[in-house]
Amino acid sequence: MLFILKQGVDYSTLNEKLKESSASYKFLDLYGKKIVIAWPDAYVENIKDPSIEVSVKPKRPFQLASNEWKKEPTEVDVNGVKIGGNKVVVAAGPCAVEDEEQVLTVAKAVKRAGASILRGGAFKPRTSPYSFQGLGEKGLQILRKVGDEVGLPIVSEIMDTRQIDMFKKYVDMLQIGARNAQNFDLLKVAGQSGLPVLLKRGMGNTVEEWILTSEYILSEGNGNVVLCERGIRTFEKATRFTMDIGGMVAAKLQTHLPICADPSHPAGKRELVHSLALAAVAAGADMLLIEVHPHPEKAFSDSEQQLTPESFEVLMNRIKALSNALGRTA
Ligand code: PEP
Ligand code: MN
Repeated sequence: MLFILKQGVDYSTLNEKLKESSASYKFLDLYGKKIVIAWPDAYVENIKDPSIEVSVKPKRPFQLASNEWKKEPTEVDVNGVKIGGNKVVVAAGPCAVEDEEQVLTVAKAVKRAGASILRGGAFKPRTSPYSFQGLGEKGLQILRKVGDEVGLPIVSEIMDTRQIDMFKKYVDMLQIGARNAQNFDLLKVAGQSGLPVLLKRGMGNTVEEWILTSEYILSEGNGNVVLCERGIRTFEKATRFTMDIGGMVAAKLQTHLPICADPSHPAGKRELVHSLALAAVAAGADMLLIEVHPHPEKAFSDSEQQLTPESFEVLMNRIKALSNALGRTA
């Protein structure tokens, strides 16, 4: 249950009523509004108070992320880059940060082609502990240095709550990966950080479960969340994961949050990446996350799915053309 409150009035009588109701509740500042989220509904649905502007009982399990109360789409600002508006924002860069020259080469190339955010993993969640695990803090330092040099905000994956202070020093946007999508403590810490969050869908999560993960961030008072479809596990083996375009559209219809698509991880093979990226734009994605490496065949991780800078430039031109045809820009 959500209570959208009037600004600058006395909330003490409402607070008393909430206390008496035995419900769990929280006062939040979100999207410039004062809000109370309270549950279970049955305990609070009859509460009336002069400080309440409007009471909303969302029909969906997710509340703050639902467009039942916030009709206008949310724009997430990543150091001046706005996600969720008319422009399709492209974040590109290597799967993993390997060295400074690699990141600098890619960053210059993707910026020239039209990307507006630089991606790169410093902490890599690998299936095998014997695979390259990332450069750690050194990787974040490289990403920050190159981002500043080239003039692109940076996004990188955080894997553990203990890394939050380190990430706050370096990144413009936190990425929460598919494997940590339901690490609820990590989601809360990301919420408390106030940083924008690129939130991947867990590979075994339904659309409803995916949107509920964003609720952990929003309920900390951090509304800067971009939901990212990156493919789910199905029986299909022709692709690495099954990119759920339908699920992406379904999510967009139910929330005010911007939607990103990562065509690289579901593709698993670079030949598929262009088509999946374009399909996502056609389906209404607000952002794309694409892996690009100067020499994909030599990459330490996800070698088969990373694009060369040349191929990325061709793709960017196709994304721009398609976006224009759809009345958007890229
Ligand atoms: C990545 O973006 O490099 C990554 C590990 O993604 P995911 O969490 O979607 O597998
Ligand atoms: Mn990767």
